[in-house]
Amino acid sequence: MFLKPDYLIKGDITDIDIDMLSQAGIKGLILDLDSTLVVPHSAALSTEAGAWLERACERFKVAIASNNKDEVYLDQIRKILTIPVVGKAAKPSRKAFHRLLSDFGLEAGQVAVIGDRPLTDIWGGQRAGMKTILVQILKCQKEPAWKSRVRNLERVFIRSN
Ligand SMILES: [Mg+2]
Repeated sequence: MFLKPDYLIKGDITDIDIDMLSQAGIKGLILDLDSTLVVPHSAALSTEAGAWLERACERFKVAIASNNKDEVYLDQIRKILTIPVVGKAAKPSRKAFHRLLSDFGLEAGQVAVIGDRPLTDIWGGQRAGMKTILVQILKCQKEPAWKSRVRNLERVFIRSN
């Protein structure tokens, strides 16, 4: 099985070209949380990610769908973000994506899912009929070597062409 995201970003979320997405007809964004928008367990937004999110919110409907189950952490995130945050999304399940889609009032093809994990974010987004954007983990994030190995292993399933 191979997964082919619509967009394969060489950098992190802040390297996504907002104008390009807008021109491609995207009207809504569903973002993964951990490693995509914030460093896991940090409950803090970097200046760069914050600036990117602010620009994105001017152009698109934006929400978070996270597999994180920690309600205390998710509430901390809700305090620093002004967008809807859905936890326990169980991606690649389509449930959270469908729920946000109806909140957005958009068609699936007008929404892009952005995430760092092929088997949850990208697969789930594709199953929901949405556009998908695979990003690298945040540049400011340091992770143990075993995690990088697992991450790279998962990317074996990714086709860039
Ligand atoms: Mg993630």
